[in-house]
Amino acid sequence: MKEYKIKPLLSGFFHMDWGNVCAPLLGGYVADLPIFFFLIEGNGEQIIVDTGFNPETTAGKFVFNPVPRKPDEEPLAVLKRNGVDPDSIKKVIITHLHHDHTGNMKLFKNAHFYVQEAELLETTWPVGTQAIGVAKEDWIDLVPRFRLLNGDFHFADGIDLILAPGHTAGHQAVMINTSKGKAILLGDAAYLLGGFAKRFPNRFADLIQKTVSVKHASIDFTAESAQKDIANVFGARFGGLFGPCILNPGQNVQSLNKLDLMADILLPSHDVAMLKWKVIPDDYDLFDEEVR
Ligand SMILES: [Zn+2]
Repeated sequence: MKEYKIKPLLSGFFHMDWGNVCAPLLGGYVADLPIFFFLIEGNGEQIIVDTGFNPETTAGKFVFNPVPRKPDEEPLAVLKRNGVDPDSIKKVIITHLHHDHTGNMKLFKNAHFYVQEAELLETTWPVGTQAIGVAKEDWIDLVPRFRLLNGDFHFADGIDLILAPGHTAGHQAVMINTSKGKAILLGDAAYLLGGFAKRFPNRFADLIQKTVSVKHASIDFTAESAQKDIANVFGARFGGLFGPCILNPGQNVQSLNKLDLMADILLPSHDVAMLKWKVIPDDYDLFDEEVR
């Protein structure tokens, strides 16, 4: 089976209260969450997964307090730095149509976009909390170039798309064969590696400290009260990591359980751990001995 490398590409940050995005119990904990999209490389091919964040759309301006973007986070600069000419990209996989994953789709003028049909249908007329997270202006003109999928899809030798609904109706994850096993790009099935705390039952505090940047609240994660909150939230069988931007939390738990069983390497879209992982699997390091 072919093997690939994965590069997380940073497109900016949200300044978020965890009470809004993760769990009411963590209200008041404020953290800057990175917004990643991804480059898959191997066998002379480059494939893009999601397209990051666009601060110019209505959703981009107002949803989840985006932090002003630095020049080196501009998508074109990020792509160039990683050896990508957007015009040469033929295939872009979209995990789901939330605005922080669709922000720069128009940069890829020659690409087809691999999207679940259920996602397009739901997002065309989004309801409730889904409506605030969608920026149709990012992609509505591109629908003729969508390749619509219905369920799991064998994308290429060593790359499979896995239907993983719950966060949105047609959310999908991307399973990629690497030299160190199967890596799964989780999309937003989990925002953070903490979504898989079950995998690291004795390392909650370590995991959270390793994967979360807290810049604007005076939180000591080692303090007893913080430990208790964290254990309450993350120990609850994935239960606490997800907030209002989830269409169907129960379905999302099922999707996470499925992905957890399939993955050797877990890669969510908003975890600061990936700021250090320039190339995966080479740089992947999450309690080495505990990664399966
Ligand atoms: Zn999302």
